[in-house]
Amino acid sequence: MKFGGTSLADGDCISRACGIVVDSLKGGNKLALVVSAMADVTDELVEACRSAEVGNRSFIRNTVVELRQLHESACRVSVTDKHLRNEVKKTVEESLKELENVLEGITYLKEVTPKIEDYVLSFGERLSAPIVWGALRSRGVDAEWFTGKEAGIVTDSNFGDAKPLMEMTVHQVKDRLQKLYEGGIVPVVAGFIAADQEGRITTLGRGGSDYTATILGCALAVDEVWFWTDVDGLMTTDPAVEPSAKTIRKLSYQEALEMAFFGAKALHPKAIELVMERGIPLRIRNTFNPQDPGTAIKADQEVEPSSVAKAISLIPKVAIITVSGAGMVGAPSVASKLFEVLGRKKVNVLMISQGSSEANISFAVPRESLDEVLNTLELSLLGGKYVREIKAEEDACIVALVGAGMQGTPGVAARIFSAVAREKINIRMIAQGSSELNISFVVKEAEGEKTVRALHREFNLGGK
Ligand code: ADP
Ligand code: ASP
Ligand code: MG
Repeated sequence: MKFGGTSLADGDCISRACGIVVDSLKGGNKLALVVSAMADVTDELVEACRSAEVGNRSFIRNTVVELRQLHESACRVSVTDKHLRNEVKKTVEESLKELENVLEGITYLKEVTPKIEDYVLSFGERLSAPIVWGALRSRGVDAEWFTGKEAGIVTDSNFGDAKPLMEMTVHQVKDRLQKLYEGGIVPVVAGFIAADQEGRITTLGRGGSDYTATILGCALAVDEVWFWTDVDGLMTTDPAVEPSAKTIRKLSYQEALEMAFFGAKALHPKAIELVMERGIPLRIRNTFNPQDPGTAIKADQEVEPSSVAKAISLIPKVAIITVSGAGMVGAPSVASKLFEVLGRKKVNVLMISQGSSEANISFAVPRESLDEVLNTLELSLLGGKYVREIKAEEDACIVALVGAGMQGTPGVAARIFSAVAREKINIRMIAQGSSELNISFVVKEAEGEKTVRALHREFNLGGK
């Protein structure tokens, strides 16, 4: 079981999460737990890095004071045993001191490398895990807590988005956790963080506690992995955008993967790949509504007769870049050079489309990488004989429709485009995954949510 930050937002939430664990253990289950940082803490740590970089000491002090209040209060409420509470408080205080020292150090260096940022971000989970441990122990649950490194998760050194070295990880996690887990002692592992082969702290990318959970699930060969969050499961769209969004009861791994890729932030795409390879079912459930069965993600694609599309996602803050020039016709080297350059810079290309005239290629990237992408492309592509112009539009977003029912169903695209046209929304770029499990397109950012709502209606996803 993994508990996300929203499920651990304060002491009461932590107590509620512990209640769920206690009930499950009473039901005869064996459990291993993964915990995220308390809600918003990782974002605050990112901000603290930015402030430290520009030497803003008062911001750092405030952040540490706020984090102390948040965690001490959570501890007071959820760790009911006095002796344990003192022990947890001591651990929390030690971590906060270390965090303050690190941030202070950055104000002198005035630089945050990805390695340093990972170190700073690791404190979110390093602070929450001992509290959950103390809260469980206070309720009589036999538990032990671990950082990702202590649990044995080893990654490459790609700080900020590290990849687990699975063979070594599986071996070490088994070695360190299997006996406890089999013996009914609950390992509580800090999500999101791990270490590279040199023992330096790495993180698995934002939302990475999901990944920690499936890594452990594979290593311990569990029957199921459950994510506890603040909504009933994966929904037909982000409920914050469309209140009539409904919980999807069943999804295939492939569908869930497409949804995660296209921004349903409730899921980390790489986390799904791991359980998909091993056929371990994944369930998403609501800590605040534990009676609800949630969403089950499994191998089989059950296409309900009436459902063409299952979900609509929105990736905000996207930029589109169009590379054009008559010389590109029949010149395959332009595309290969283009994507080679982007690959080298580790730019996350979200979508690609090429006009049939071959005179242009458009692609979408996260807006934050736009400047870097433009600089790089101008240096490497302009001035040759093929590319005449590189243009960018920075106020875009991607809307994606996902569902196994679209496979081989004619007319889906037509329905999408007429629904969008009725709203007088202009589509800037279109792509269909070769799996036919998704159709995605780009519209202006300001029209993104309206587009999502129009499609949600068109495909009757909110039901009656
Ligand atoms: P956690 O803290 O449990 O990891 P996240 O905040 O990462 O939770 O993800 C849950 C949130 O994702 C929900 O509160 C919801 O607003 C948002 N979300 C976006 N798209 C979807 C979707 N299609 N289905 C469910 N939740 C979604
Ligand atoms: N705390 C990390 C984040 O906010 C990891 C997670 O919550 O899954 O990205
Ligand atoms: Mg998450």
